[in-house]
Amino acid sequence: MKPKFGISTIAIHGEIKDKSFRSVVYPIYQSSTFAVEKSDDYQKFIDEVEDFYIYSRYGNPTIREVEKRLALIENCDDAILFSSGMSAITTTILSLVGPGDEIISLSSIYGVTYRFFRDYIPRFKINVKFIELNQIQELKNFITEKTKLIYFETPINPTTRVVDIKEIVTQAKKYDHILTVIDNTFATPVNQNPADFGVDIILHSATKYLSGHSDLILGCVISRKEIIDKIRKVKNTLGGVPDPHQAFLLGRSLKTLELRVKKQNENALKIAEFLSNHKAVRKVLYPGLPSHPDHDIAKRQMKGFGGMLSFEIDGNLEHAKKFCDSLKIALNATSLGSVETLVSIPVLTSHIKMDENELEKAGITSALVRISVGIENVEDLLWDFDQALNSI
Ligand code: PLP
Repeated sequence: MKPKFGISTIAIHGEIKDKSFRSVVYPIYQSSTFAVEKSDDYQKFIDEVEDFYIYSRYGNPTIREVEKRLALIENCDDAILFSSGMSAITTTILSLVGPGDEIISLSSIYGVTYRFFRDYIPRFKINVKFIELNQIQELKNFITEKTKLIYFETPINPTTRVVDIKEIVTQAKKYDHILTVIDNTFATPVNQNPADFGVDIILHSATKYLSGHSDLILGCVISRKEIIDKIRKVKNTLGGVPDPHQAFLLGRSLKTLELRVKKQNENALKIAEFLSNHKAVRKVLYPGLPSHPDHDIAKRQMKGFGGMLSFEIDGNLEHAKKFCDSLKIALNATSLGSVETLVSIPVLTSHIKMDENELEKAGITSALVRISVGIENVEDLLWDFDQALNSI
C-alpha cells in the first residue's frame, strides 16, 4: 500500500504530470480558450470529462494541477481555486444556501466575511445568527431545521483566540442537514488539518501563507467531491477565477509552505516570549503561550501554533501608531502570512468599519497591534521590536 506522504512531498510532487514534454515544473497554460479537434468534442464538456478544457472560466490545466495539490495537502478529495479569498468564501456560501435557510457564524471572523454575512446575505432572505466564542457549548440552542451551515475560523483574527473544532463538529454531526465551514487561513494546513476532525469545507485566503510572498491575491475551497462539484458549477457562473500565471506562482509557493510555516512558528514563539517580558507591553496573545486563554485547545488541535500574534501596548492608539512607525525591518502593512514580517493596527485596518460594541465583543482595543511573523533572522526582529517599543 502507498504510504501516506508528508505535506512537503505532496506539495512538491503533486499528482498531475506534464505528459507532453515531461517538464519537471508543470507548465503555465496561459490561454483563455481551447480549440476542439471536431465539433462533436463539445459533448465531452457536457459529460464533464476530466482534463477536457474549452474555456478557462470553466477550467484550465495549470489551475487544475494546483487545485489537486491543495486537495491532497488538506486531506480532501478536491479543491477549487478562486481569484481571491473573498471570492472563495462568497461563492461557497452562495452555492450552499438559499432563501429561507439559516447560517450560524461566530461573530469573531475576518471583518469582510462578517460584513458579507451582516450586510449582503440577508438580501437573499437568508438569516445569519452570530454567536460568541463562549456560546459554542450551547450551539444546539441556535440550530433549527433551517440551519444549513456553521461557519467559523480559528485562530481568530486578530486576537488569536482558538475555537474548539472538535466541539463544533460533534454538535453539528448530530444533524444531517448541517455542513461545517472553516476558514483555515491563519493556521495553514501545516499547523491544522480540519478534515481530520470531520470539518466538511475548508477555505483559505491563498493570498496569505499558501502563496507566502505578498505578490498575489487568490483563494480556495477544499472539500469532498460532491460539495466541490456543486460549488464549481456556481463558480462557472459567478466567474471569480484566477489567472493561470497566478495559479502557477501559488503552485511554486506551495513547495516551500512547510519550510516557511515551521520557521514562522519558531520565530513567532520567540517574539511572543520576548514581548511578554517587555515593560512597554500590557498583554500578549499567542496560542503557543501557556498564558493564552485557549492554550489547551490549541495544543489538542494544532501541530504548530502559527505565525500570527497580537499584543497590547501599555498605552493607547497613539502609542500603537508610534510603535508601528518606528520599526526599521518589519513593515506597517495589512495582510499576513508572508516571508516578511508585517505589523498592523486592527482598528485602522482589518476591523476599521466596526462600531465600539462590535470591537469590544471581538476583544479588540485601539492599543492592539497584530504581527504576522516572517522568516527573517529572529534576532534582527527582536532588535527591531525592542528599539520600536523603547521609542514610544
Ligand atoms: N480570510 C481571512 C482570515 C483573511 O485574513 C482574509 C484577508 O485578509 C480573507 C479571508 C480574504 O482573503 P482575500 O484578501 O484573499 O480576498
